Amino acid sequence: MGECGTCVFPMEDALEMILMFDRTGRISYANAAARSKLGYEDMENQHISTLFPNTFRKTEDGFESDFSFGDAAGHLIIYRRNLTCFPVEARMKENAGCPGTYICMANDLLEREHLGREISQVREEAQQAARMKAEFVANVTHELRTPVNGILGNVRELLDDVTDAQTVKTLQLIERCCGDMNKLINNILDFSKLDAGKFVLEPRRFHFRNMLDYVKAQHFSKITEKGLDFFMTVSPQVPEYVIGDELRIVQILNNLISNALKFTAVGEIAVQVLRTAQVEKQTELFFIVSDTGIGIGEEDMDKLFQSFSQVDASISRKYGGTGLGLSICRQLVELMGGGIEAESRKGRGSNFSFSIWVETEEEETPKAPDDVKAVFMRMFAGGEGSGEEAEDIQEYDTPKNRENLKRHLSRLILSVEMENWEKAEMFMESIRQLTEGAPSDVRRQILRLKMAVQKENYDKVMDEYHKLSI
Ligand code: ADP
Repeated sequence: MGECGTCVFPMEDALEMILMFDRTGRISYANAAARSKLGYEDMENQHISTLFPNTFRKTEDGFESDFSFGDAAGHLIIYRRNLTCFPVEARMKENAGCPGTYICMANDLLEREHLGREISQVREEAQQAARMKAEFVANVTHELRTPVNGILGNVRELLDDVTDAQTVKTLQLIERCCGDMNKLINNILDFSKLDAGKFVLEPRRFHFRNMLDYVKAQHFSKITEKGLDFFMTVSPQVPEYVIGDELRIVQILNNLISNALKFTAVGEIAVQVLRTAQVEKQTELFFIVSDTGIGIGEEDMDKLFQSFSQVDASISRKYGGTGLGLSICRQLVELMGGGIEAESRKGRGSNFSFSIWVETEEEETPKAPDDVKAVFMRMFAGGEGSGEEAEDIQEYDTPKNRENLKRHLSRLILSVEMENWEKAEMFMESIRQLTEGAPSDVRRQILRLKMAVQKENYDKVMDEYHKLSI
């Protein structure tokens, strides 16, 4: 706090120099910045013309000056105690809070120029580093993609000729690994472009429902392989054609559906699309991707949309992934003017919902938009894709649970007979989840069956299977 005798000012620690002087030109207060820059321990009783000899003249009863007092700033030369000087940008005006006094605020122009130069140098260096990083990522991903595609091409050619079952299996595994590697490379490239603010959307007109069919087709084999139910519903309010970045909308949906598939062993996955708002030619679409999978604990929800974050290390060991998918989805959705959210209950399932804005060619005739709240209420009240249905499936010895268990057990045995141990492990995990609420003797038998599957021991699996009384 600074004082002028009668007033108290909260300006002692300000970075700019602050001076108070009265009608006689006598300085009554100088803040710490003014004292240190001008080389005074105490400035009281100095005359203002000592500091600004080019601007103020001392007269018998005070001072004379051509400086225009008010809010406008002027460039002046200020003198230090040792008579050296430097330029300042100064404003002076009457101090309304303390009549008969003036306040002067001055900034060191040399220091400001120096700071400005430093800031632009730091900014330039940061931009250069970001450019280099983006170029490096682009080069590395390109270099990585070339050999991966080389391997993929050769594997596909070999697959056309080879008939031996074991070799086909190995080649298919290599093909899948190459596909995963390509996904990873694309994710890293997208992430780096989004991070550098260089991502540009490419909107064009497309048939909305055809796009959804294409998305569904891409996941169809995995859905049937896992024995899950899949529902896709589009509100009649959603226009036939829209203008938007189709490729990126497909990418967001693919990512959410792949995650739902990855983390769901039993039950269903549902995709719903609604039209939630219309402003002239702009339409807001709302998507919900829900599953009855492992769910996410409340404590992990806030990590979800951050880059490189997975709920915990055991998840990445078991299910793979880089933790980039949802962060890319969030950034893409935001570029499309919307937002993304998740709701989940551990062990019950998850709902990922996002909104985007697309354009329609014609101004849509205003129809009442879909009511998202009503849809969510239906979902939680036990309709398609509801958590309650998931609980029903999980609850041991209900008719639905029995039916599911039988279905998964017969698929397990089929996989074992075909020696597809990877699939067998997958069905085993579903069976384990379906029997979580079973009496302990059943769970013990399931555990023994699981161990036999993990050891890829055909005889033991069959043995344990026949002992099961489900
Ligand atoms: P990744 O590529 O590793 O899957 P994501 O960003 O897509 O990365 O997902 C981050 C993490 O969020 C996942 O590792 C998982 O822990 C959690 N997660 C995402 N979707 C689901 C889901 N449908 N059910 C349960 N957990 C999920």
